[in-house]
Amino acid sequence: MAIQMDGKRISKELKEHLSIETDRYLLEYGRPPLLVTLLVGNEPASLMYVQMKKKACEEAGILNQIFAYETISEEEIISLINRWNKTEEIDGILIQHPLPEGIDEATCFRAIAPDKDIDGLSERSSFKSATANAMMNMLDYYGIDVEGKNAVVVGRSTIVGKPTANLLLERNATVTICHSKTKNIKDYLKKADIVVAAIGKPHFIKSEWLKENVVVIDVGYNEGNIGDVDPKGLNEKASYYSPVPGGVGPVTIATLLEQTLEAYKNHVEKTEQRQKRR
Ligand code: NAP
Repeated sequence: MAIQMDGKRISKELKEHLSIETDRYLLEYGRPPLLVTLLVGNEPASLMYVQMKKKACEEAGILNQIFAYETISEEEIISLINRWNKTEEIDGILIQHPLPEGIDEATCFRAIAPDKDIDGLSERSSFKSATANAMMNMLDYYGIDVEGKNAVVVGRSTIVGKPTANLLLERNATVTICHSKTKNIKDYLKKADIVVAAIGKPHFIKSEWLKENVVVIDVGYNEGNIGDVDPKGLNEKASYYSPVPGGVGPVTIATLLEQTLEAYKNHVEKTEQRQKRR
């Protein structure tokens, strides 16, 4: 019987911890952490994610201002970001993905000041990809050591697949990245001790392709709350697996807030040091 990794519980505990910390910092520094979110368009899934993050911010004692635009040009986005970069009280800047067609996301992500890019969206960010780091939080919570294990990451996007592979590598796993051009993907999966699925294809990976006692982390979030791994037979095959919904998603949001608090601490400490020097 596999252990289901309880993303909701991990997220709740993280937010409770953050809330205690933000209360303490509010007393010390007189302001809460501030996260600004840019939302463009009216895609229902994006609206829902933005609202979920706002609610989580409230639970953790973080202020979240949402700037929503039906349409906006890339130049206008960049000029907004530049303004936010310079605003001292803003600790984190979040751009809700995806931006509408015609806007180059990577350019917008790169415009965020590295110390405010709490989602870890660009290579310059001072923070890790929140989704990839959320997975590490989940592995840690269950005491799963990846050193020397064969990890297969399916998906190589810059915001999920690649940063996840990097973090697993940092922890001394032997990492293979598979993608849409990989031949005989099942041959890699058969040897994997840890599988991370970040594909965006509902129930793509089947439990028959996996080895006994595998750890499965399903990042996929497809229409209808469906993951990239077919849960059929997973309970018998895996030692641990993260379900969809209730797995990586809630932990990603909590990790995002954790990184926002980190950014805030850096900012208020810098301000203090500047004031002391005067
Ligand atoms: P993405 O940018 O579309 O990347 C998908 C990756 O999957 C690509 O590298 C692609 O390969 C690979 N792929 C596609 N078809 C494949 C196939 N048949 N066999 C093997 N690999 C295949 O997506 P993403 O942004 O990384 O997101 C992946 C999934 O995670 C989505 O369902 C998304 O909703 C979800 N997500 C969840 C969270 C969370 O917090 N829970 C956060 C972000 C994303 P190529 O590079 O060759 O095209």
